[in-house]
Amino acid sequence: PGTLYVVATPIGNLEDLSPRAARVLAEVSRIAAEDTRHSSRLLAHLGINTPMLSLHEHNEARRVDTLDSYLMAGENIALISDAGTPLICDPGFVLVRELRLRGRDIVPLPGPCALISALSAAGLPTDRFTFGGFLPSKPSARRQALEKWQAREETLVFYESPHRIEHTLESLCEQMPERAVVLARELTKTYETFLQGSPSSLLSQLKQDPNQSRGEFVVMIAGAPPAVQSDEQSITAEVLLNALLREGVGV
Ligand code: SAM
Repeated sequence: PGTLYVVATPIGNLEDLSPRAARVLAEVSRIAAEDTRHSSRLLAHLGINTPMLSLHEHNEARRVDTLDSYLMAGENIALISDAGTPLICDPGFVLVRELRLRGRDIVPLPGPCALISALSAAGLPTDRFTFGGFLPSKPSARRQALEKWQAREETLVFYESPHRIEHTLESLCEQMPERAVVLARELTKTYETFLQGSPSSLLSQLKQDPNQSRGEFVVMIAGAPPAVQSDEQSITAEVLLNALLREGVGV
């Protein structure tokens, strides 16, 4: 059987496509793309005319057998999404899960990813982080989602669209008013901007300059401060203190 290559494509700047990605896109027999019209612009820019077929959330399950029959016939196939790394808030998971169960070769071609790019330049801790994908659009569901993450001590990361960025900041003003937040906007594009501050200061910056609400966002939130001593720790401290007092040690 052939190989499925999972190929990351640019999130804005076309120079970010790796030479390896360009070679593989030119060499495979077919490219499964989230939106073939959108990706035809990238392929035209690269001078590549590999045939494409669509693979999006509505036809992904049906496409598995078709794509697998190409692989079984010895063809190599590339999977791409509209921008960035496939499967990261993009189609491809159903296909990859199924082909892996069937024992096919699946090779990742690493490259642009908004989440990782944003974290790499934000200045928030990155040793551990939680990626929450897109927050729910309904206010009550958004509140619940944020409540669930509120006590986490690691950096929280969300994807956000321009229509909802102000709503998300309003929710943060209510639920995490003291946190440091970094907004990464239009990464790798002309108007790439990093804004940092409390939720309320960011909200007023966006309201003052509506251009700052345009484009695509990654929202990063500093984790909760480490929890105060757990009950267990304070009991241990109390036992120790009493023991020292009994011993007559001046504390
Ligand atoms: N697969 C993509 C990746 O690897 O990052 C993510 C696809 S997801 C459908 C689109 C979301 O990713 C946008 O709403 C935004 O939150 C984020 N995003 C994509 N490109 C971005 C960019 N250039 N700057 C900031 N955020 C971006």
